[in-house]
Amino acid sequence: MKSLWIALSMMLMMFSTYAQSVKRIPGEFVVRFKTQRNAARFFQRNGEGIVKNLKAKSGLYGKIKVHPQQGQSIIHRLLADSINTQDIARIEPNFVYQLAPVKNEQDSRYNHLRGRFYRAGVPADKMFDELWGLHNTKNEGIDVNALNAWEKTKGSKEVVIAVIDTGVDYTHPDIKDNMWVNTKEIPDNGIDDDGNGFIDDIYGYDFVNDDSDPMDDNDHGTHCSGTIGASHNSIGVAGVMGNVKIMALKFLSGRGGGTLDGAVRAIDYATEMGVDVMSNSWGGGGRSQILLDAIKRAEEKGIIFVAAAGNESNNNDRFPSYPASYGLDAQNVISVAAMDIEGDGASFTNYGVKSVHVTAPGVNIVSTTPGGRYKSFSGTSMATPHVSGVVGLLLSTNSRRAVKVTSKNIREWLIRSSKPHEALKKTSLSGGYVDAFSALTGQGVLVRRR
Ligand code: CA
Repeated sequence: MKSLWIALSMMLMMFSTYAQSVKRIPGEFVVRFKTQRNAARFFQRNGEGIVKNLKAKSGLYGKIKVHPQQGQSIIHRLLADSINTQDIARIEPNFVYQLAPVKNEQDSRYNHLRGRFYRAGVPADKMFDELWGLHNTKNEGIDVNALNAWEKTKGSKEVVIAVIDTGVDYTHPDIKDNMWVNTKEIPDNGIDDDGNGFIDDIYGYDFVNDDSDPMDDNDHGTHCSGTIGASHNSIGVAGVMGNVKIMALKFLSGRGGGTLDGAVRAIDYATEMGVDVMSNSWGGGGRSQILLDAIKRAEEKGIIFVAAAGNESNNNDRFPSYPASYGLDAQNVISVAAMDIEGDGASFTNYGVKSVHVTAPGVNIVSTTPGGRYKSFSGTSMATPHVSGVVGLLLSTNSRRAVKVTSKNIREWLIRSSKPHEALKKTSLSGGYVDAFSALTGQGVLVRRR
């Protein structure tokens, strides 16, 4: 009994600390039940509008919503009850996450890319010159070395990358051909044809509105998607991958905010549907074991979780930024910092020689936005999809076998195949920036330096 009260008071202490330091939805908690039976028992006892089953297929998660005036007493009762009955394995505040904020340049500036000619792989092409992250004509070699990498592979339709973000404009002329499509689902028939717990989920799912239409009502998710996999066609821009399948998972609203329960559901969806990579250009909240557990479920399936290091100019080794900083606990997490066209660390980028793994282009990145448009954004949000794309190239047929890279050592491989760069020495563990060609061929791979 004594240990029960110690556990209880520690949990309450934890919640009040969280309340002061990080954003959360007032009165909301996410719980993880021990088993389905525990969940059923819990919902039976505590119905009455304060609990909500999150409808994850596993049924192991629930969201508790408490009215402010009832607050403390109900939480006390639930905690004591769950410790007594051992129904609940974990309970955490429903944290708030934000898209890693970006700088938006004038929208009209890149409208000239609409419908104009871009010839993939031709560096002299004027439109292609905008994409310095892929091929830098101003400072030669300060890029992810895409042109040389494309001699080896432009990706594969076998590789699925989930963009966990504000949604994706799956009708964008530069993206539509590279969208993942759930072929086991019949569109708009109101039936969960593939039995995955989601009705009519064709391109992914919208966990904000809890419907099957993950259309982007922000810009951010579509922009990240274009950097990963805008088609190498005759219009607009080119992605790091010319061939890929992008799954649209929306858990951030049009205003760019999302919650722990949405993030967990999105990650679990992607894990269950068997993606290869999850691209995560968002962060915030406190350290959440529930979120880490979801990332570890992905890790067990060999799925890579690429995450933005954050845009607070912080040292993540001292001030962790989640989910990027879960890299210390899960080997599949790759934390990404941003550099500019000169090869300097971006002014805003978080850094850390222990907890940030790699650096990639993230300043003035031109990519797709909804409605067939193109815009330039800056942020570790933009560096992240560059890395997701390079991982995707690596996972494409043949290249993976050629360099004998397994899902367990992809992070290590990206670090070692990064191009060393003096100005980025203290930005990430790699001491340089991601090089797709080196990653694909093993040329220039560093002997372990530390
Ligand atoms: Ca379905």
